[in-house]
Amino acid sequence: MTNRYARQTVLPALGADGQDRLNQASVLCVGAGGLGSPALLYLAAAGIGRIGIVDHDRVEISNLQRQILFTEGDMATNKAETAGQKLSHLNSHIRVDAYPVRLTAANALSLLAAYDVILDGTDTVASKFLLNDACLRLGKPLVHASILGFQGQVSVFWGRHGPCYRCLYPHPPKGYVLNCAEAGVIGAMAGMVGAVQGLQALMMALGLSWCHSHGLDPLLGRVWVLDARSMNSRLLTLGKNPSCPVCAGDAASIVLDDGNDAACQSRDVQGIAADDAQQCSPDTVFLDVRELHEWRSGHITGARHLPLGQLLAEGEGLDDLPQNAPIVVYCQHGIRSLTGAAHLQRLGYTNVSHLEGGFVRWPQRA
Ligand SMILES: [Zn+2]
Repeated sequence: MTNRYARQTVLPALGADGQDRLNQASVLCVGAGGLGSPALLYLAAAGIGRIGIVDHDRVEISNLQRQILFTEGDMATNKAETAGQKLSHLNSHIRVDAYPVRLTAANALSLLAAYDVILDGTDTVASKFLLNDACLRLGKPLVHASILGFQGQVSVFWGRHGPCYRCLYPHPPKGYVLNCAEAGVIGAMAGMVGAVQGLQALMMALGLSWCHSHGLDPLLGRVWVLDARSMNSRLLTLGKNPSCPVCAGDAASIVLDDGNDAACQSRDVQGIAADDAQQCSPDTVFLDVRELHEWRSGHITGARHLPLGQLLAEGEGLDDLPQNAPIVVYCQHGIRSLTGAAHLQRLGYTNVSHLEGGFVRWPQRA
């Protein structure tokens, strides 16, 4: 292990103690695309102890021009899972979790909760707002980047320590916003910006006080803007907006919103009312996707327990069930269950519904 990280531990800003910090740290990358590819490769190589990857997409031939995690043999595989395998091959000493799901308002908090640092590798405006708001809710640092054509920007948003994405852009634009697919992007451009993003995530993994006592100055309250046509780059100072719609108020009151992509992943899930669910056939499997403490405080008799995060990460907790088994997914209020049920449908389960209103509507609590 000494050899593996020797080129970085020799740096006074890191050393063996800094390396220990990286080994203890966890980073969640949302989006394993043009930005996520270089960022993830460098973070895994640097020995970040736990890396999570969220991506529901599949690898397509048009991705290979910039998404350097993937090769021709990966066509049609899920990006999070394939990226996870690549990272494990690169560094078998780290833990890698793949979440083959779309980030939504319903699953954002549970996906992000277990990680120290969040890296935004998404390419839609709606996801960027959602990630910003979820990180503010949880008090987590968000390493932001966006890229369009030859222009890119990177910043670190962290509610307690500086401005957020909405201090820069208070609301999602009303009109149509181009993404990389429409506007075009050079692969090396995504590589540059993604590598900067990876470096910022590494600094946040070391911790702010470590950075400040070791001469490192992450991009909190500053936005690095690059125009690669001329290689002009600027550092803009960004202050907290006192009337920011989210970070100026109480974090607990922030309501997450799917924005333009509103609930597109859960629209096909059938809801079932508590009264009807009680009449279900005896072979119906009730799947409780709440956290352990909620399960322990009461659950539906005979139900199975598989917390949403685990279901999204593994899904194999249900391997013994036939794909046509009748399944009713439930949570406390009927929000997380939508995500869980939609995920089961994507895994090929054909008879899935979710309990409307959640466990609080269930009359007989065991
Ligand atoms: Zn703000």
